[in-house]
Formats: sequence, structure tokens, C-alpha cells
Amino acid sequence: MLKIENLHATVAGKAILNGLTLTVPAGEIHAIMGPNGAGKSTLAYVLGGRPGYEVTEGSVTFDGRDLFAMEPHERAAAGMFLGFQYPVEIPGVSYLQFLRESLNSQKRAKGDAEFSGAEFIKLAKTQAATLGMDAEMLKRPVNVGFSGGEKKRAEMVQMGIMDPKLAILDETDSGLDIDALKAVGHGINEIMRAPEKSVLLITHYQRLLDYVRPDRVHVLSRGKIVRSGGPELAMELEREGYAEVAA
Ligand code: ADP
Ligand code: MG
Ligand code: MG
Repeated sequence: MLKIENLHATVAGKAILNGLTLTVPAGEIHAIMGPNGAGKSTLAYVLGGRPGYEVTEGSVTFDGRDLFAMEPHERAAAGMFLGFQYPVEIPGVSYLQFLRESLNSQKRAKGDAEFSGAEFIKLAKTQAATLGMDAEMLKRPVNVGFSGGEKKRAEMVQMGIMDPKLAILDETDSGLDIDALKAVGHGINEIMRAPEKSVLLITHYQRLLDYVRPDRVHVLSRGKIVRSGGPELAMELEREGYAEVAA
């Protein structure tokens, strides 16, 4: 699904990723953990194609295609979903409008038929129920005045509607209370636990992994993967701290 080889990237002329190699097969959920400033968000931005993040060496293939030959919207149309730590607010656009346009623009890109209003509302209600969210909430402007938990639940509703092959979720758990954390974990499992799907779950703390059990855990330190293991590695990190494990 995702094959990253010897990836080097700079931001504002500063080297942040320094030879990162990682393979995520279809059907697996991989967690990336690491201390502040390790380059976790930079990795998510580079994979998403955010301007200002320059790849200086290495390669990435997504579902067998050269990722860096694809524009960001082509990456999304090919089934990549990115969830970021700080969701944007869009005053004047309701969440439902935003979701419907996201879905239909992807359908157009693939040459598929667009959803009708009624079909779309049904889909949105089903996905909202999965996340334990009142669908009425989705009539409000995108993220304006939403709590941290509401933003993340809504983002998971978006993920359910887009039905991606690969989800890259950056600190989806930051600032969530236990109920929201459980709902988001349940949403990730419901939407993404499938033989043809994969998740790259970027997190600073172990707690989300109580709800979403990863197949593999990788430690990112100073721009590269310094250790990989099973779910027990996350417990070890929680106990011992990054200084011990990533030294
Ligand atoms: P993490 O998500 O692991 O906490 P980041 O990827 O956000 O780490 O940041 C990695 C390093 O890159 C940090 O030292 C950070 O200060 C630096 N960095 C990130 N974005 C920029 C930027 N736009 N300009 C300069 N430095 C940046
Ligand atoms: Mg950080
Ligand atoms: Mg970060």
C-alpha cells in the first residue's frame, strides 16, 4: 500500500526527514510514535504534498504508483486520506456541504456518478451514527465553535464518507477526552480495519492504541525510524520514555 524508501525532506532549508524507510502493507495499521520535533507531522505533510516541504532524496510508492508524480488532489482521488492535528475552520460552509463536495469532486475525478442529495444525507447520517455524533451538528459551519472532540469525530465522519484505501492520521488523539477517544478509535476500526485498507497512525501517546491495536509500531527520532516492533513496543515507550528507547 505504502512504501517509503530512504526519504529525505527539508522544510525552510532545514533537513527534517533523514533517510526514513517504512513499508505499510494492505490490511495493516501501523503506528508511528516519537518525541516532539522528531518529524512526525512533516512526514504526514510530505505524503500529502503540502507546499514548502521539499523532498531531496528517496522514493514513495502508494498503491504501486510513484507518489511524488501525483498532485495532492490526485493522491486523494487515488484513495489517500489525511487527518491533521489542527482541522481548519470554514465559516459560511456547512459540514454537510463540505462533505458532499469532497465526495462528489472525488467521484468526478474518477468518472463515477455523483451522489444525489438523498443518498448523500443517508450516508452522512449512517457515518455520524458510527461516530456517536448527532447529524444535526453537520449543519453547522465546518469546525466553527466545535470542541476538540467534535472536530475529530466530524473528521472521522469525513473519513467514513470518503472511504479511503490509506488513512494518514496525525495526532488524531490530541486533546480528546476518554469518550471522544473511544469514539474515534471505534471509528478508525469500523472504517479502516479491512484487508484492502491501511492506516498510518501518528501519535505521541500510547492511549489511542488501547482502542486501535496496531499491527506494527515504529519509533521516529530525528527524521528516521530508529526502532520497529509489535504493539508491546508502544507499552515499552510509555514506561521507559523516548530517551531510553530511541537513544
Ligand atoms: P513532530 O510532529 O514529530 O513533533 P514536526 O514534523 O512538526 O515534528 O517538526 C520537526 C522539526 O521541523 C521541528 O524541529 C520543527 O521545528 C521543524 N519545522 C517544522 N515545520 C517547520 C517550518 N515551517 N519551518 C521551520 N522548521 C520547521
Ligand atoms: Mg508535535
Ligand atoms: Mg506533529
